[in-house]
Amino acid sequence: MAFDSYSKMFTEEQLISISALQHWVFCPRQCGLIHLEQAWAENRLTAEGRLLHDRVHESDTENRPGVRIVRGLRLVSYSLGLVGQADVVEFHRSDCGVELPGASGLWQPFPVEYKRGKPKKDNSDNIQLCAQALCLEEMLHTEIPSGAFFYGKPRRRNEVQLDASLREITCRAITAVHDLFEGRHTPSVRYAKKCDNCSLYSQCLPKTTGLNKKIDVYLSKAYELPGPEETP
Ligand code: SF4
Repeated sequence: MAFDSYSKMFTEEQLISISALQHWVFCPRQCGLIHLEQAWAENRLTAEGRLLHDRVHESDTENRPGVRIVRGLRLVSYSLGLVGQADVVEFHRSDCGVELPGASGLWQPFPVEYKRGKPKKDNSDNIQLCAQALCLEEMLHTEIPSGAFFYGKPRRRNEVQLDASLREITCRAITAVHDLFEGRHTPSVRYAKKCDNCSLYSQCLPKTTGLNKKIDVYLSKAYELPGPEETP
């Protein structure tokens, strides 16, 4: 299914989780195993990440001079078919943005995601943040030009510009995951170095399954009937 952003509305049943985008960027098969086959295995990396997110969501709101902070905000976009939850959305007092209840003036939303480790080499974190911003833009009827990550190693905040290129990549990932879910077919295995850090390694068995796949090819070749020109 190819969908044109903002041209249709998805139903509740068709919404996909923002986390599925990250799984898909890491490995489409992992995305299928988790979201179509409900396979989930927690390893040390995912356990530490979950504990960090639980801590981030412990308090709901906080006010600081010029900044209002909301934690654990539910996110949805019916035009993109997305649902999720933001770790933190900061609202900075600004000359543009949205009105907040009980506060004068305008406030610029600024999503912040907390990550246990260091910045990833792939685009999955940025796509997650951009997807959150796209949901917030639809929910709040405003534009969100940037957001940030707070990484644990090293402990620092990285600002991310949500530019046209990142939005395009994010929309392509959203389309791919909708297609995957609609087709309900988990992609086949392909062993890569990243498999060694995959929480689903023991369910997926990429080396074994990949080997079987080769055996399948070998057997089908071995039993292939000769073509007419090869008939003795
Ligand atoms: S083990 Fe490898 S192929 Fe299997 S789901 Fe994980 S990353 Fe994907």
